[in-house]
Amino acid sequence: MVLSKTFSESDVSIHSTFASRYVRTSLPRFKIPENSIPKEAAYQIINDELMLDGNPRLNLASFVTTWMEPECDKLIMDSINKNYVDMDEYPVTTELQNRCVNMIAHLFNAPLGESETAVGVGTVGSSEAIMLAGLAFKRKWQNKMKAQGKPFDKPNIVTGANVQVCWEKFARYFEVDLKEVKLRDGYYVMDPEKAVEMVDENTICVAAILGSTLNGEFEDVKLLNDLLEKKNKETGWDTPIHVDAASGGFIAPFIYPELEWDFRLPLVKSINVSGHKYGLVYAGIGWVIWRTKDDLPDELIFHINYLGADQPTFTLNFSKGSSQVIAQYYQLIRLGHEGYRNVMENCRENMIVLKEGLERTGRFNIVSKDNGVPLVAFSLKDNQRHDEFEVSDFLRRFGWIVPAYTMPPDAQHVTVLRVVIREDFSRTLAERLVIDIQKVLHELDTLPAKINAKYSDSGNEEVVKVNNGNLVTKKSDIETQREITTIWKKFVLERKKMNGVC
Ligand SMILES: *Cc1c(COP(=O)(O)O)cnc(C)c1O
Repeated sequence: MVLSKTFSESDVSIHSTFASRYVRTSLPRFKIPENSIPKEAAYQIINDELMLDGNPRLNLASFVTTWMEPECDKLIMDSINKNYVDMDEYPVTTELQNRCVNMIAHLFNAPLGESETAVGVGTVGSSEAIMLAGLAFKRKWQNKMKAQGKPFDKPNIVTGANVQVCWEKFARYFEVDLKEVKLRDGYYVMDPEKAVEMVDENTICVAAILGSTLNGEFEDVKLLNDLLEKKNKETGWDTPIHVDAASGGFIAPFIYPELEWDFRLPLVKSINVSGHKYGLVYAGIGWVIWRTKDDLPDELIFHINYLGADQPTFTLNFSKGSSQVIAQYYQLIRLGHEGYRNVMENCRENMIVLKEGLERTGRFNIVSKDNGVPLVAFSLKDNQRHDEFEVSDFLRRFGWIVPAYTMPPDAQHVTVLRVVIREDFSRTLAERLVIDIQKVLHELDTLPAKINAKYSDSGNEEVVKVNNGNLVTKKSDIETQREITTIWKKFVLERKKMNGVC
């Protein structure tokens, strides 16, 4: 007699997961399930759902590293179970982080003596680094104002309106007023003259960006330094500069070594950089470096006993992984100046290939600069019938993830698409992307114009642009929705007729 037991516990180890009941039940979404499931089933099911995430290598939206050498992947996996904060137990990991701090401080030309150690710390990313640098400036400013018997409850920070969201976070979490220099048409970074005009006695620092998130442009830190030195002399203040070099910090030193943006400029007191951007490490590592010990107020530092020696720490997190610190050290010594320079030059070359390909279509204005973070930011010359958001949507069908966004005030009427060139984005991919963008443009040309709701200049009367580009007075929302649905239904049906797939 054959004993058969359907869906037994041993099902999965005997049969494939797909022959088990686990692919027939929906996965828990709100509560921890009562019973366990076999590890093979858990792996398969989660892995399969994750297939629907985009492919990180084709994610052209991000500056963050998506490829490392297999040897480094191995180091990462080997240390995945090491808690960085256990410095007593893992003294070598701590030593590697200190070596990274020293190397990066030297890279940024910190004024260090021969055997002097640098002041800085590894963080989870530039965001944590910026919180720490901002706190140091706030505390230093408060101490100074207290000593002078002046009010110290209204600190502010001056930045461009192009700052990354983490500066807004810093301002809100740590109660500092964020004073933003507005952008304007054709000028998408902080204007140093306007920034210095906005500085007052309550300004804890001016934050400049080396590699604006929006268009990759390097801000003119040297000019900012010179203007601010002049103002400081006139007013008797000593307003310092922080450089947010999240993406540019590992680019400029290697391919624009003459550019003065770092500790060579006297007012630059701290710099942050994302190890996980052009530092070429996977997500989870950033660095903040201070010019000297005096620039980091002592009361922010916690001293922990580390093998009988004093290990100062200044971080927001306690426990975190060690892998990223180890991976950063790997990249610094594996690549050296030569390797980083070659990677950055390759990125720049591929950026030029992409930029020129886009220019040849005749359809785009390029809003990024050749010197800066290797990215191409571009907008449609004519976005009346179809806009950048549609180009972005349509590119997804080819697998490409290319974001579209509007610029901050006062350039909010400008929409751009942005492609970040990372180490693993080769020339072949750049050329393919241009071809696919051309296909998208072709396809959009054959489609009816999308319907835009716009406000006319004369006031609040809403006007709607329909198919033929004529302006008509506003229809009811229901009517508009119906019209959109009809047009798209027609489009989908026609496409189906054309090629059988949609
Ligand atoms: C990416 C970025 C940040 C935030 O850095 P994370 O490392 O992602 O925390 C801050 N500023 C600029 C200019 C950036 O490009």
